[in-house]
Amino acid sequence: MRYFIGVAWPYANGYLHLGHVAGSLLAPDIFARYHRMNGDEVLMVSGSDEHGTPITLRAETEGVEPQEIVDRYHAANSRALEDLGISFDLYFRTSHPNHARVVHEVFLRLLEAGHIYSGTTETFYCHECRRFLPDRYLRGTCPHCGDEDARGDQCDSCGRALSPDELISPVCRRCGAVPEMRESEHFFLRLSAFEERLRGYVGSMTHWKRNVRAFTLNWLDSGLRDRPITRDLDWGVGIPVAGYDEKRIYVWFEAVIGYLSASREWARRTGNGDAWRPFWTDPATRHYYFLGKDNIPFHTIIWPSMLMGLGDLDLPYDVPANEYLTLGGEQFSKSRRHAIWVTCFLETFGPDALRYYLSVNMPEKRDADFTWDDFLSKINNELVGTLGNFINRTLTFAHNNFGGVPPSGEPHEEDRRMLARTEEAYEATARAIEECRFKDGMREVMALAQEGNRYLMVREPWRLIRSDRDEAATVVHTACRVIRALSHLMAPYLPHAAERLHEMLGGEGSVHDRPWGEGLEDLPPGELPAPSILFEKIDIERAFGGAAGEDEPGAPERPPGKGTDDTGTREGTEMVDIDDLKRLDLRIGEILSVEDHPDADRLYVMRVDIGGEVRTVVAGLKPYYSPDEMVGKRVAIVANMKPANLRGVLSEGMLLAAEEGDVVSLLIADPDRPVGPGAGVR
Ligand SMILES: [Zn+2]
Ligand SMILES: [Zn+2]
Repeated sequence: MRYFIGVAWPYANGYLHLGHVAGSLLAPDIFARYHRMNGDEVLMVSGSDEHGTPITLRAETEGVEPQEIVDRYHAANSRALEDLGISFDLYFRTSHPNHARVVHEVFLRLLEAGHIYSGTTETFYCHECRRFLPDRYLRGTCPHCGDEDARGDQCDSCGRALSPDELISPVCRRCGAVPEMRESEHFFLRLSAFEERLRGYVGSMTHWKRNVRAFTLNWLDSGLRDRPITRDLDWGVGIPVAGYDEKRIYVWFEAVIGYLSASREWARRTGNGDAWRPFWTDPATRHYYFLGKDNIPFHTIIWPSMLMGLGDLDLPYDVPANEYLTLGGEQFSKSRRHAIWVTCFLETFGPDALRYYLSVNMPEKRDADFTWDDFLSKINNELVGTLGNFINRTLTFAHNNFGGVPPSGEPHEEDRRMLARTEEAYEATARAIEECRFKDGMREVMALAQEGNRYLMVREPWRLIRSDRDEAATVVHTACRVIRALSHLMAPYLPHAAERLHEMLGGEGSVHDRPWGEGLEDLPPGELPAPSILFEKIDIERAFGGAAGEDEPGAPERPPGKGTDDTGTREGTEMVDIDDLKRLDLRIGEILSVEDHPDADRLYVMRVDIGGEVRTVVAGLKPYYSPDEMVGKRVAIVANMKPANLRGVLSEGMLLAAEEGDVVSLLIADPDRPVGPGAGVR
């Protein structure tokens, strides 16, 4: 089989966060990696969506050119995707001239065929700025919630989508002037003409997810209207018709063409400029598009109608859209900085921990929520406790007692059952991935590891080795075969760990280049190197390294990597007024005693007098201060922190400290001007 895999293009106005990975990036990578091992031809592309008003607004805010913005985020996001192990054949960008070339070609062909026509439309225009105002350049009152800072396309306060004419008393966002309506000449896509064909097409796609089909049919039932595909803006792909120099093609029309332009660019870079053709013109090729639910109509209605208009390219075969990953119950948001950035996360936990967590918690049928507690428990109990444990105990036992994989004797009934179970899990995982049920696939892998642990408990090779060495060898051999199967089953999901496991088993080359079915083959007896640990348990104090223990896992809105926001600077710091400050009970506390935390390397447990009351405070100061340096000091403390359980000790306050690089410095009251415990801090 041949597969084209298109992945929705992330917007280049911010860094990638966990919502992107869960919503659209991880699933296609699992799908692509499996199919490549399965011997299928795969082309997987995506890229940065670099045009449109979110980019120009950001550029204006920062006082730089739009190109500078997209260069920054394209570079950073490309690196993050690579670190995460997303195996794109090409991660392209829409500001590339070769993208514009393909967009122009598509535009002109559709124009010639009568699917695009020109007409006039009324648009807001600002006298003062002497320009038309795209939706995001309008500010007004939201008709739904009354927020006065709503944009022409959306209200950030209540999250509803708006159209410019819904805004109450709209003004120009840049100068505040009241805009007028002016006629402007634009091009339109004749979407209405495709309604019947789309209905037939969607009707035949009975394998689509129920929500994707329902959503699409709903759109069709409400009737398709022609849509303007150009706008008054100076950043974007130009219009290949004379007289439209001031206008650009709309992002929604141009970005989906990126699937085609990226495929052709990929072909060009392989040295065979026609290599993209079989992926796009052979009707037997299956086109899969992976995206979040907000993107469904662009891939089930608009892109298919454009492809129908062109007439010679394959239509989407499946669009397995995901729901959202939420963070502490709320949607991720770049603009509100309610997010966990991929780069920060990878620095602390590595790619496979993230891939595992988001595989078992993928928002396939409904929204899924990310919490630190859940993340820790899934990594430590499942990935480390079940999968890592089975592999490590088996390989260690094999190495210590047999120097590697021993030959198998006559298998016992339990051994046969274990191998049969392995084959079942193998089939079930493959089927789940083929049907885009990625959560189920990962669960199958985990269930097999669990079964492996149970098998060892039943067969007890550590006892057998004393009574019947041959039978012990048979058990170890069988368990090693399960591990070989696991190294292949893990490969699409946990590509880095699978590769290391493949090496530990003495496998040839890269596991990702091995045939999928090879994992079920018998393992030749032979020596193995001493195994190393595959998955590390996460120690939350070490991971967060909080100077004052404030980053405990109940604080999901904090990305690991403190003070790092969307732009890597502090320019986004929110202004507060005195009332916000009054919510904090800031006082001077005297440190009475300092002891080591019984169960954490970096933490101290302190007794602190806050004026008539002694509190227990847990803080990660051990790498920075000795107890002698701290006892007797009077320091600033937040006295009304919610008590937090830090590895078994309840912390009832938080010491304030300054931090710069490796230096952590407690905020200590000036000893020349003594203030007593309990003194207020303003
Ligand atoms: Zn609103
Ligand atoms: Zn203006």
